[in-house]
Amino acid sequence: MVAQDTIENAVELIANSSYAIAFTGAGISVESGIPPFRGKDGLWSKYDPNVLDLNNFFLNPIDSWRVIKEIFYDFFGAAKPNAAHFALAELENLGIIKAVITQNIDNLHTDAGSKEVYEFHGNSRMLVCPYCAKEFVAAEVNLNDIVPLCDSCHGVLKPDFIFFGESIPQLAYQKSIVAAEKADLILIIGSTGEVVPSSTIPTIAKQNGAMIIEINPERSLFTDSITDLFLQGKATEVMEQLISKLKMKA
Ligand code: NAD
Repeated sequence: MVAQDTIENAVELIANSSYAIAFTGAGISVESGIPPFRGKDGLWSKYDPNVLDLNNFFLNPIDSWRVIKEIFYDFFGAAKPNAAHFALAELENLGIIKAVITQNIDNLHTDAGSKEVYEFHGNSRMLVCPYCAKEFVAAEVNLNDIVPLCDSCHGVLKPDFIFFGESIPQLAYQKSIVAAEKADLILIIGSTGEVVPSSTIPTIAKQNGAMIIEINPERSLFTDSITDLFLQGKATEVMEQLISKLKMKA
C-alpha cells in the first residue's frame, strides 16, 4: 500500500496539471493475466523470442505462426481490461488525461474505452500482408489454418505489431512525440524503461518540463533517473486509489 501522503501528492499534481498523459508498458496488463516478456515468469522464459524476429518469420513462417497464434491470439485474445485500464479511460473522460501512449499490443486500453491511444508497437487485432499491404481483422481470419494467407496476393499475413528489426509505426511515433513535448505531467505505469526507442518518450516529456509520476511494484530505469514521485505498487491498486480521490475533486 502506498503511503496516503504520497497518494495525496500525486492527486494534487494530477489535478493541477493542464496536459497530463500516460505511458504504459506490459506491467499494466499483468493483472489482466498477460505476463510481461522479461523477468522470471516472463513469456521469454517459456518461448523463443526468435519467433518475433522479422527475418526468422519470413524464413520459418509455419514455426513462427504456431507460437504467435498461441501467445498473441489464443492467450492474449481472452484477456479483459483491468481497473487500471478503466481508470485511465475515466481520467480521459474527466478531461484530465489527454492521451495514452502504450507499448502494449493487446488492445486493452481501447477495450476499456480510452480514445486517444497511440500504439507505439502496433496492435495484434489487425493482420497485414507484407507484400500488398492489405489489412485484415485478426478475429475474422481463421488462424487454425497455419499459415494465414492474403486473399489478394497469397502472401503470408503478419500481425500488425512490430517485430524485432522493424521501425515504429510513423503516425503513432509522431503523435507520441508531440504529446510528450506538450505534456506537463506524465504517468508511467508498468514499464522497465529498457525498450528503446519507446523509453525516450518520458525523457522527452521531462526535458520539456513535465512532472513524472511512476507506478510499478519494482524500481525501473526511470525510477532513479527521471521519476519525481514513485508510487510503489500494482497498477490496479494504485490507480484505484488515485481515481477515487480525483473523482471527488472533479
Ligand atoms: P516492460 O518494459 O513492459 O516491463 C514490465 C514492467 O511491468 C516491469 O517493470 C514490472 O516490474 C512491471 N509490473 C509487473 N507487474 C506489474 C503490475 N501488477 N502493475 C504495474 N507494473 C507491473 O517489459 P517487457 O515485458 O519486457 O515488454 C517489452 C515490450 O514487449 C513492451 O514494451 C511491449 O511492447 C511488449 N509486450 C506487450 C505485452 C502486452 O501487450 N500486454 C506483454 C508483454 C510484452
